[in-house]
Amino acid sequence: MTVHETPGAIRANSPSLDAYWMPFTANRQFKRAPRLLAAAEGMHYTSGDGRRILDGTAGLWCVNAGHGRRRIAEAVERQLRTLDYAPSFQMGHPIAFDFAERLAAIAPAGLDRIFFTGSGSESVDTALKIALAYHRATGNASRTRLIGRERGYHGVGFGGISVGGLVNNRRVFTTLPGVDHIRHTHDPRNAFAKGQPEHGAEYADDVERLVALHGAETIAAVIVEPVAGSTGVLVPPKGYLERLRSLCDRHGILLIFDEVITGFGRLGTPFAADYFGVKPDLFTTAKGLTNGAIPMGAVFVRREIHDALMHGPESQIELFHGYTYSGHPAACAAGLATLDIYTEEGLLTRGAELAGYWENAVHGLRGSRHVVDIRNLGLVVGIELEPRTGAPGARAYDVLNDCFNRGLLIRVTGDIIALSPPLIVEREHIDTMVQTLSDALARLD
Ligand code: PMP
Repeated sequence: MTVHETPGAIRANSPSLDAYWMPFTANRQFKRAPRLLAAAEGMHYTSGDGRRILDGTAGLWCVNAGHGRRRIAEAVERQLRTLDYAPSFQMGHPIAFDFAERLAAIAPAGLDRIFFTGSGSESVDTALKIALAYHRATGNASRTRLIGRERGYHGVGFGGISVGGLVNNRRVFTTLPGVDHIRHTHDPRNAFAKGQPEHGAEYADDVERLVALHGAETIAAVIVEPVAGSTGVLVPPKGYLERLRSLCDRHGILLIFDEVITGFGRLGTPFAADYFGVKPDLFTTAKGLTNGAIPMGAVFVRREIHDALMHGPESQIELFHGYTYSGHPAACAAGLATLDIYTEEGLLTRGAELAGYWENAVHGLRGSRHVVDIRNLGLVVGIELEPRTGAPGARAYDVLNDCFNRGLLIRVTGDIIALSPPLIVEREHIDTMVQTLSDALARLD
């Protein structure tokens, strides 16, 4: 089969590559040698030139039930034929209420009020705004300060980039005032730790330092990813999240978990809050919510926070916030079908069964060339490579290219390789991923 006959294939250097400005991509480099994914089924993509590519990353941490699920496609089609769209403000449609009820039923107890958004970034900005509105509604209007964490990734809205901890956002764009950060938890003492590392619970005490600096009465919320994903898989040290929770309680600060990656089974429990036994006041989701099939996000909110905002005159809008596509019928249909699949196939807890096998397999890469750390939890791993000196570009990017040529999709950020396969992954897929990576690492210079 030639490139031209493959569905979705595009010829390199053809003018058809020019118009699309790709997100978070080195466009010029990519377009010189494009890596195209044209179709997908189960654990595999088909590349633009017709090769099978094992999906080591569940797309972008989102296709938890694997690709090409007919049930989702059919539910979406049915919904679009029945009700394609209805205004999300001042009108309701049944499927949004159904979906929220179903989500509330699997939420950690008490976090059962659901606000729908269109993405992870929108979920983050929504959660931050609910936190501010809550404090205002409860007579604490001075609580406006938001606290994020270094190396946090919370999407690309101005709220998200402000509480996020990435220098590029600070260099290129502007960020909100009144935001501060606690330190990240990456600690060389924990190199090659399996699961939750031993050292670093004390990094949570930075909240105490910021309270001393700014005054608790100015602080609205602390937001963290329970396991930092995009910036290199940073697993929270033992006791760290518990400590954050108790400091927030002590000072009347809301705790927000960003579960855009960890939500829907990534750690072997429905949510990270379940895995760690630490309950936030709000948490954000997206990605696995609809198996990545239709864009959607959802914020789970503690019932008391929701109720506190329901106390004004009934004719008044309680939260001056929302999106045209909040609770979009097609997205809700995709989400309901996804939840059915997760439940019937036990996927929200499947990670727990495979976590031990996964851990052993990925730590088998210890000793591979240039590997300086391996961090894992549930069905996620971050493999950190020694930075290259004297030559441009990160080694991990070469590994990504090599793996793609060998039939494996991985994700890289700087010097860190991340794997997070669909939760339908089988042991032989895990073996293939590790073997392919091992071969690619062996070729590095
Ligand atoms: N929060 C976290 C923790 C994420 O990992 C991401 C996306 N990787 C986002 C927010 C942003 O989600 P989206 O790209 O859907 O806006």
